[in-house]
Amino acid sequence: MTDVVVNQLSKSFGSNQVLKALDLRVPSKQFVTLLGPSGCGKTTLLRLIAGLEPASAGEIRFGEKRVDQLPPGDRNIAMVFQSYALYPTMDVARNIGYGLEVRGVPKAERRRKVEEVARVLELSHLLGRKPKQLSGGQRQRVALGRAMVRQPDIFLMDEPLSNLDAKLRATMRGELRRFHLDLGTTTIYVTHDQLEAMTMSDLVVIMNEGVVQQIGTPEEVYRKPANLFVAGFIGTPPMNLVPAQVENGVLSIAGTPISLTLPANAPRELILGVRPQDVAIANAGEEGAIPGKVWVVELIGSERLIEVEIAPKLRITTEVRASHRAAIDDAIAVRPDLAHIHLFDPATGKAVD
Ligand code: ATP
Repeated sequence: MTDVVVNQLSKSFGSNQVLKALDLRVPSKQFVTLLGPSGCGKTTLLRLIAGLEPASAGEIRFGEKRVDQLPPGDRNIAMVFQSYALYPTMDVARNIGYGLEVRGVPKAERRRKVEEVARVLELSHLLGRKPKQLSGGQRQRVALGRAMVRQPDIFLMDEPLSNLDAKLRATMRGELRRFHLDLGTTTIYVTHDQLEAMTMSDLVVIMNEGVVQQIGTPEEVYRKPANLFVAGFIGTPPMNLVPAQVENGVLSIAGTPISLTLPANAPRELILGVRPQDVAIANAGEEGAIPGKVWVVELIGSERLIEVEIAPKLRITTEVRASHRAAIDDAIAVRPDLAHIHLFDPATGKAVD
């Protein structure tokens, strides 16, 4: 059982503070994704957990054991990187078993372990091939095999699928998930790809600017974003975030009252969040219908996105069936689904509930 616990972890490169007193608990056996925009510190956090980079402050524990002073080789972790640099002159079996070879594991045992891993990864028929005789996906599986054969306590993976084409990435997502369910090894996986995070993870850790913004299941971070950053980051197309005003207990957007029961502690100015999928086209004059005019129309496969200007420089996007026609500057009204509204305090950015 290996929980990974990170306490008040900070890391600076010169004057650039990349991780800011970060706290995180990765429960044993879970597949946890670090998700966030480029430069938010995901790879740095992974490298600190691996021991490839020293922390500036704070501590890292695996279970009860403090590890932040230990060299990488003493942490019993295995890393899989984006560039999975296999040894070109060695065949697949030797590539997979090489880590055991340098540790002096006897040949027979090595062979047994390599064969076992190859079976799980469906590489058994390829053990005699050289890396250049493999497809991208097969090579990536060999890299995984190399990590798995050592039976580490923890897998650390840094964007391992980003060099693969879209179709293979989709297949490998499923495979990685399955391997994880089979092996049950605690896994920390870095990605900036929402789809990867949302489809593979038990828990998603959303980071921005060296700080954890929210930790939750994929469903939790989608359905109940803790703050404006998460609300705007998770979901495609992104959530509408529009200013709203509260007067005499009634909330309104661009002058249209919205009959929503507000929490007692709601401030007078709010940001209302609603996903384009949860905004319907309504008839002007109906209760809760916000009038406006069509700003932009975009066809995305079987759906159509209509961006509606409801006040100068204030727009709400609705996602409707592609069969719904709309032309720029048409008069139109939209109605947010009151069951799927999120409210945020603009002063703190936090969800109000
Ligand atoms: P990406 O998704 O682009 O890989 P990331 O979230 O993984 O981004 P990091 O690679 O952790 O981000 O980088 C965070 C910040 O730290 C960046 O501003 C980067 O320039 C800086 N940084 C990372 N490694 C070093 C280093 N060795 N020396 C100096 N600055 C570094």
